[in-house]
Amino acid sequence: MGADLAIKNLHVNVEGQEILKGLNFEMNRGQVHAIMGPNGSGKSTLANTLMGHPAYEVTAGEIWFKGENLVGLTADARARLGLFLAFQYPSSIPGVSVANFLRTAINARHEQADGGDNGNGQPRGISMRDFRKLLKEKMAMLQMDPSFARRYLNEGFSGGEKKRMEILQMALLQPEIAILDETDSGLDIDALRIVSEGVNELMSPNLGVLVITHYQRILNYISPEYVHILLGGRIVMTGGPELALQLEERGYDWVKEAVNK
Ligand code: ADP
Ligand code: MG
Repeated sequence: MGADLAIKNLHVNVEGQEILKGLNFEMNRGQVHAIMGPNGSGKSTLANTLMGHPAYEVTAGEIWFKGENLVGLTADARARLGLFLAFQYPSSIPGVSVANFLRTAINARHEQADGGDNGNGQPRGISMRDFRKLLKEKMAMLQMDPSFARRYLNEGFSGGEKKRMEILQMALLQPEIAILDETDSGLDIDALRIVSEGVNELMSPNLGVLVITHYQRILNYISPEYVHILLGGRIVMTGGPELALQLEERGYDWVKEAVNK
């Protein structure tokens, strides 16, 4: 058996330019990995490619998850398999409330391949009562005011509220691999702590978390067992938590020299 998520020789073009150039990476559920890299190194490109964003063209390589090569699958098929991405820049959807959005997302995530109904001609899905209970519980965990659920998705949300919203979505969708792209950006220290505690609370043998970040800061709260450095379109170095501290102290230049880039 291979790793739960295995990326092999991934090459990705964005707007005709090659950004990922033969990236290899593996992780399992139950683990926390961090991928760190300078700005513009392709961290978000990797995150968006994993999720199946159509602007990111895979020109070679494979992404194995639960026995399937994800390349070519739509983002919603990937989400149904149990992959989740917390965006660096979440979009707003005026007119769609947080509660409606989340209930729709839960039902879509757990939708049966046969599109079956519940026997009464109604689509299968979470009942309103169960949904409200779950939402209330997870919002409390993230210290979100209940009135939040009635607001339009991300409309007028602060940076911290948007990131909390992403983690709330993760809590409800119960993915098997969650990718957090720069979840620390735009967060003050209190919000960072709340968001990180939320993620830590969700950790289980069934969940793997991939933290993608430029700065070491979030790794003080969400502790990775493995730290990888993305540079020149590839993972060029892998180590333990000490590698993140080294980057914090010394920046990325010594890595460039060490790998001769
Ligand atoms: P990081 O997240 O590490 O800062 P990105 O993956 O966002 O890096 O960007 C890597 C490179 O790809 C940059 O040169 C960036 O300009 C380019 N790029 C990424 N996404 C897009 C896009 N949607 N359109 C055009 N260029 C992009
Ligand atoms: Mg980015």
